[in-house]
Amino acid sequence: MKNKDSQELEKKLKYSSESAWDIYSGKQNEKVQSFSENYKKFLDDGKTERECVTAAVALLEKAGFVDAGSKESLSAGDRVYRNIRNKGLVAAVMGTEPVIDGMNILGAHIDSPHIDLKPMPLYEDADMALMKTHYYGGIKKYQWTTIPLALHGVLYNSEGEKISVSIGEAEEDPVFTINELLVHLSQEQLTRKASEAIKGEELNLLVGGIPYEDKDVKERIKLNVLKLLFDKYQLTEKDFLTAEIELVPAHKARDVGFDRSYIGAYGQDDRVCAYTALAALMKVKNPARTCICLFSDKEEVGSIGNSGAKSALYENALMELIVKSNGQCSLWDFRSCLDNSHMLSSDVTAAYDPTYASAFDKSNTAFAGRGVCLLKYTGSRGKSGSNDAHSEFFNEVTRIFEKNSIPWQTGELGRVDLGGGGTIAADMANKGMNVIDCGVPVLSMHAPFEVTSKVDVYCTYEGFLAFLKKMKKCYE
Ligand code: MN
Ligand code: MN
Repeated sequence: MKNKDSQELEKKLKYSSESAWDIYSGKQNEKVQSFSENYKKFLDDGKTERECVTAAVALLEKAGFVDAGSKESLSAGDRVYRNIRNKGLVAAVMGTEPVIDGMNILGAHIDSPHIDLKPMPLYEDADMALMKTHYYGGIKKYQWTTIPLALHGVLYNSEGEKISVSIGEAEEDPVFTINELLVHLSQEQLTRKASEAIKGEELNLLVGGIPYEDKDVKERIKLNVLKLLFDKYQLTEKDFLTAEIELVPAHKARDVGFDRSYIGAYGQDDRVCAYTALAALMKVKNPARTCICLFSDKEEVGSIGNSGAKSALYENALMELIVKSNGQCSLWDFRSCLDNSHMLSSDVTAAYDPTYASAFDKSNTAFAGRGVCLLKYTGSRGKSGSNDAHSEFFNEVTRIFEKNSIPWQTGELGRVDLGGGGTIAADMANKGMNVIDCGVPVLSMHAPFEVTSKVDVYCTYEGFLAFLKKMKKCYE
């Protein structure tokens, strides 16, 4: 009897997060699996920010969304999107309440760490054609050598024609790779610190090896590569100066594990939150509050530039919704709207990895498989650069999740003072809205093959949907 009492007391007073798989069993599990299939396709379709915008717009149009530019005015139930420089996106479902009373926003970023080509990339050395690169975002450089890479991007040829390239994704395509020193001769290299094991200037891409037929010309292999590019795309070496070419892992998204519990893929930070947000928004019909998906670029380098989350273009896109539904938008109208808005900064966090246990505080970390993660703060060195969500708002979001039976957990991004990181949360909160970080825990974040738990992906989608539908203007 006493034993039972103490068990009940324990249940009543103690807290720990639990496996979300226990909740999503049977029929629910089928939903988890089928959602994952669509998510994997989205990842494969959008491996760069540009491609991600294209893939998202295709899904939105299929779900009845139209370009906001094509609408003179907006009314409740309307579904629109605004393309931000082909690298960002704002999509909205108009609510029955005035937009000035605020919006429910899901904000994710769609850029991921990758490797860019330099402006003058192509050179020949030792009978090889190679390309110089400059990496983008935080990467462990040694993870990007000796794997198949695909080349994606845009260039303009001398005719002024815009050429979009994607080489290395189709089965029959060639791929590219960054070679590395053989282990037999690595005695010196292996004494370097891991952060310098591969240096930035050593990330050189192998792109060709057959010489041009005329033996009297110099750099015959480089010339042969240029000739191939000219024959196929009418491109010359000069056209690379203004190009944007990204190298990304050539592999497709795959199930991981005997039980297929995980998804392994490139770019899940943060396209996992972009896809789950998009799927939630598309599901919303005739909401009370206007519901928004905001996908930004350049988060991995500080959210700067006119396609980054700090850009006025995202404000313009939100302002357009007020102008077109209200007839006008004063600065007061816009500021009131932001004041009354709530946002989930939809970004990934680190999942606990038992192999690197000392990097985490085990009682304050997210676990893969325990549901969507809400993070009060991120930042580094004493929460620097963090949004640090208000308790009032945090608590309201958890109430919505719990009322809708959505498994959620919380945590910190690793051990205090070990490192840290940021999201777009603080940038958006600076505008006046309530913001908290909320997203999927990820293993091997920023690596070419990042891993998420399928059940977390599905919980995040359901959490986002509940937030869009249920979050009210005033919650106290
Ligand atoms: Mn992120
Ligand atoms: Mn990141």
